[in-house]
Amino acid sequence: MKAVAFQALHTPLAFETLPDPTPDAGQVVVKVGRCGICGSDLHMTEDAAYGCKHGDVLGHEFAGEVVGLGREVEGFRTGDLVSVIPLMSCGACEHCRKGEVQWCARFALQGGGYAEYALTRPNQCVKLGADVSLADGAIIEPLAVALHGVNLSGLKAGDNVLVLGAGPIGLAVAFWAQRVGTGRVAVQDIADFQQQRALGMGADVFVVDPADPVGSAEHALGGKADVVFECVGIPGLIDQAVQQVKNRGTVLLLGLCTRPDPIDSFAMLSKEVRLVTSAFFTVPEYRAALEALAQGAIEPRLLVTDTVSLAETPQVFESLKHRTSQCKVLIAP
Ligand SMILES: [Zn+2]
Ligand SMILES: [Zn+2]
Repeated sequence: MKAVAFQALHTPLAFETLPDPTPDAGQVVVKVGRCGICGSDLHMTEDAAYGCKHGDVLGHEFAGEVVGLGREVEGFRTGDLVSVIPLMSCGACEHCRKGEVQWCARFALQGGGYAEYALTRPNQCVKLGADVSLADGAIIEPLAVALHGVNLSGLKAGDNVLVLGAGPIGLAVAFWAQRVGTGRVAVQDIADFQQQRALGMGADVFVVDPADPVGSAEHALGGKADVVFECVGIPGLIDQAVQQVKNRGTVLLLGLCTRPDPIDSFAMLSKEVRLVTSAFFTVPEYRAALEALAQGAIEPRLLVTDTVSLAETPQVFESLKHRTSQCKVLIAP
């Protein structure tokens, strides 16, 4: 099969031919229909913290058609269209039964979507109905990540929301936040590429003012935010979020910062800020994101700005490492 594989840190991915996968007992082969390129994939090729090895196939945001079944697989047949939950787990322990699979002792992140075929397990496959496309199936993962953050934030109707970062996760937070019935939703970034997309996704206002980010967000919201979602993950933004939130407000961290980020705990303590972190999602949240698409929510589809082939992927992947007008790029193998 054709695939795009990791070579080494700071080196472009390579378009290669790899052996077709054969399913072991309990495994499913999915013919990848669409796979999203995620910001964390970009980090994986630049940061040793992720532990990528030569030959690894990245890609954890994918959907496709079941084309092979190992022994002992029940509940699926070839031809089923599925979105793959990229969280590998045992499927049987207490955490798995609650859908909180990230705490499973056998938890690992599934990759493999940058290829014609990927191996997975039936407990990670969610069937897609006729009302959603394979492209929809590939954006469920970032939608679920954002939904988990919104759920953990305790966001209530009427709250004013500030989202830092207009990437796919930040825009998906704006989408879920407006469904809660919030007051105003502001999305803030240091460039205006995603302004129209953010407004289409549910933001009331888009703020770009690198010289005075705190003052201009406050002006846009008519005051400090009840909840600030940090969706970037670079040092300094937690401190900025603390300045931008109300006393006793909530700062919710979705941005994954792989470097130490010194924070001004005095400022945070003085305001009694609630700092909440969010990682991955629960299985029910993944299903809720699919359900929103199946019920006709059109805004999330605005996230997709381009669809490229596997052969084009190494070059497109490199281009996404620089600031660009692209939002979510999908691979169509
Ligand atoms: Zn992702
Ligand atoms: Zn488990």
